[in-house]
Amino acid sequence: MTAAGVPIQVDSGLFADLQRFGAGDVSACFSCGVCTATCPLSENDATFPRRIIRYAQVGMREQLLSSKELWTCYSCGECSDSCPMEAEPADFMAAARRYAIASYDHTGLARAMYTSPILGTVIAVLLAAFFALFMYAEHGPMSAGSLALFEFIPNELIHTTGLIVMAVVSLAGLAGILTMAWRVSRAEGVTRRSLLGGRAALARAWRAAWSAVATESLGQSRFRAECETDAAALPWFRRRWLIHALTMWGFLGLLAATVADYGLEIIGWKATGTPVPLWYPVRLLGTVAGMALVYGVTMLILDRMRGATRALRNSTAADWTFLALLWITGVSGFAIELGLYLPDPPVWGYWIFLFHVAVAMELVLLAPFMKFAHAIYRPLALFFLALGRVAAEPARQ
Ligand code: SF4
Ligand code: SF4
Repeated sequence: MTAAGVPIQVDSGLFADLQRFGAGDVSACFSCGVCTATCPLSENDATFPRRIIRYAQVGMREQLLSSKELWTCYSCGECSDSCPMEAEPADFMAAARRYAIASYDHTGLARAMYTSPILGTVIAVLLAAFFALFMYAEHGPMSAGSLALFEFIPNELIHTTGLIVMAVVSLAGLAGILTMAWRVSRAEGVTRRSLLGGRAALARAWRAAWSAVATESLGQSRFRAECETDAAALPWFRRRWLIHALTMWGFLGLLAATVADYGLEIIGWKATGTPVPLWYPVRLLGTVAGMALVYGVTMLILDRMRGATRALRNSTAADWTFLALLWITGVSGFAIELGLYLPDPPVWGYWIFLFHVAVAMELVLLAPFMKFAHAIYRPLALFFLALGRVAAEPARQ
C-alpha cells in the first residue's frame, strides 16, 4: 500500500521546520537507498528511511505525517552507519517522529517543548513547582511518630488531582490518536468497513491488534529479533531491547500498583497509606516495577551520554527532560520506601514525597506532548503495518 490516498501539497518550509526538531542536513542525500537496504526493519510494504527523507526533501508534509513507517524505526542507527553521504538518516527519523508528535498535538505544547529548549525547561520546572505548591497549600501535619504521608498530603487531594490529570491526558492523547489514525488510514486505504464490516474483517483487525500490542509492543519481538545486530558484543544486561522493555514494564507495573492501591481503598480493603510489609502484593509489585524502571532509565541515560549508538548521539533537551522526569519519579519513590521502613521516620521523607507526587503528576500530564507519546503512536502504526500483513496472508496460502 502507498500513501496514494493523500493529496500532494508541497510545503516549502517542511525541511527547515524538521531541522528545528533536530533533523540534520539531509540535503546531501541522493536517494541511493543504501540506508533502506541496511535497515533491519524496512520491508516491502513499509520502506524507510529513504522514502521519508524524500518526502522531507520535496516538502510532502501530509505524506510524511501519514507514514506508519515513522514509528516502526527503533533508532538502532545502522542506516546512519551505512550512509555514504553521512546524511544521518537515523537522526532524521527521530526528528520526524518529534515533528509528528507536535503535529498530532492540537495545543502547541509539544512544539514548544521540542523546538525551544529554554521554554521547554521553563515549562517543566514551572509545572513541577505548580503541583508542589498546590499540594503543599493543602498540607496537613508532619507526624513524628510515623511517616504518615497521606496525612501530610491528603490522599483525596492526590486522587482528585490525579483523576483530573488523567482526564486531560486522555483527551489530549485521544485527539492525537484520532488525528494520526485518520491520516494513516487514509494513506493506507483502510476504511471503517475494511476494519469492522463483517466477521472476517473483525478477525483480521483482532489479529493485527494482537500482533501490534501484545507481540511487538509489549513483547518487543522485532526489536529483539532484528534490531540488535551488535547484540553479541554486548552483555545481556546492556542489550537495548531489554533496557527498553524494563523501562516500559517498570512504568506499567508502577501504574498498575498505583491503580490497585487506589482500588483497594475504593472497595474498602485497605486505606491508602496504611503501613504494609514489603511482601504485601501491591507494595511488592511497586518495588519490583520501580527497580525495573530505575535500572532501565539509568541505562537509557548512560547510553545517551556515551552515544552508545550513532542514533543516540544527538539528543534534544526534550529527550533529556523526559528521561530526567522518569528517573526522578523512580528514584524518589525508592527514597520514600526507604523512609517508610527506617526505624525512626525521617522528616525528609515528607519533602521527598511532596516532590515525588509533583514530578509524577507532571510526567503523566506531559505524556502526550513528549517522547512518551510514542507509547501510543507506535502500537497504532504497528497495527496498520500488521493489518497489511494479515490481509495479504490468504493470498500467500
Ligand atoms: S540517507 Fe544516505 S544511504 Fe540513505 S538514501 Fe540518502 S544518501 Fe543513501
Ligand atoms: S535507525 Fe535502525 S530501524 Fe531506524 S531507520 Fe535506521 S536502520 Fe532502520
